[in-house]
Amino acid sequence: MRFSAEQQNFVESVRAFCAKECGTPQQRAELTEGGTLADSPALLRRLAELGWLGISLPAEYGGQGGTFVDECLFLEETARGLAPTTAYGTGLTAVQTYLHWGNDEQKRIVVESICAGNFEAIALSEPGAGSDLASARMAADLDGDDFVLDGQKTWTTAAHLANHILVLVRTDSSSSKHEGLTLLMVPADAPGLEIRAIDTMYGRTVNDLYFTQVRVPVSAVVGTVGRAWQQLNRGLGVERLIIAASSLGSAQRSFDDVLAYVTQRQQFGRTIGSFQAVRHRMADLATEIALCRTFLYDVADRLDAGDEGGLSRDSSTAKIRCTEAAKNTALEAMQLMGGYGYAREFGMEAQVRKALAPPIYGGTNEIQREIISRSLGL
Ligand SMILES: Cc1cc2nc3c(=O)[nH]c(=O)nc-3n(C[C@H](O)[C@H](O)[C@H](O)COP(=O)(O)OP(=O)(O)OC[C@H]3O[C@@H](n4cnc5c(N)ncnc54)[C@H](O)[C@@H]3O)c2cc1C
Repeated sequence: MRFSAEQQNFVESVRAFCAKECGTPQQRAELTEGGTLADSPALLRRLAELGWLGISLPAEYGGQGGTFVDECLFLEETARGLAPTTAYGTGLTAVQTYLHWGNDEQKRIVVESICAGNFEAIALSEPGAGSDLASARMAADLDGDDFVLDGQKTWTTAAHLANHILVLVRTDSSSSKHEGLTLLMVPADAPGLEIRAIDTMYGRTVNDLYFTQVRVPVSAVVGTVGRAWQQLNRGLGVERLIIAASSLGSAQRSFDDVLAYVTQRQQFGRTIGSFQAVRHRMADLATEIALCRTFLYDVADRLDAGDEGGLSRDSSTAKIRCTEAAKNTALEAMQLMGGYGYAREFGMEAQVRKALAPPIYGGTNEIQREIISRSLGL
């Protein structure tokens, strides 16, 4: 799609911000305590001050009232600029469900939280329920006017930074696995909730959550008791676009860096980018990124127009291609940079580590292929 002059100016502004605030390895190390954290709360607050968070969220609840295309431009450009703010996308995912199913107070609280530069989390996965999410078992039993939560959630991004966690619980185990699931808005500092970091290859971001007699009032229900499975569907479709937009930015950044490298690096008396074997690989990467961009923004544009008929299928397509483009581009770039691709100093190894997770989270790419297959009647 064609972007307006205003959108192009916005992208330029985000690019300049990233170059200034997190453009050097030293700046990024300072923001992430030497790379041990995936996200920088300080940088997210700076973005909030500029009015760039919650671009696509409704103005009536405190958002910027813009389009999802603009949101994707922001996500793409911050990923391209290596801003350590990936978990912003997780809050943006959680808020989709609040906006569609939550009450006015829940919507206002979460939208304001995100726009102010706070984190919001969503806890669906359990040790025994990953791809088969509907088999989630963590219980919440009604006791007077409260639900009492007991059990474990896992892989919850940014729970340790978040104000609230949108938690999937089983409130009825007597019916089929797709029924009896409920969503609850749980304060991250609720008594009885323990949040423990999971050690991963890309800095602190994900957590195990242990619930012991955690009480929340019935007013914490988001939507309808027992209908979480049906309610989650649209939000997870939008999540796939959020992941796709960030991954596109990551792919573009790896491409930018390797293009600069092959243009400058000399072997056998010429730049390595002048060898046809290298040029064709660069052309293939550029082709894939261009197609990903065109497709992603087409889906985002249709979402803005209220055309959600193909959202589930098309967001899966965008998620597969953009996350695989980010992974393949980073791996190809590492190979094309030779030993320097493997060294921390040149940054490509971090791009590789970062690009390995998105094909897994937000529903693995195998599960996305299942969604697409189902849309084909298979
Ligand atoms: C960095 C990161 C962040 C995350 N953030 C969150 C979060 O914020 N909130 C949250 O709730 N969860 C989060 N997750 C969890 C994530 O969504 C799950 O890891 C993912 O859904 C896969 O579940 P699993 O790990 O249990 O793998 P499994 O479901 O056990 O899958 C293992 C393998 O089997 C394959 N497989 C399973 N079923 C099928 C099938 N039917 N057909 C073909 N292949 C299949 C999978 O594709 C995968 O390759 C995060 C995970 C990571 C790594």
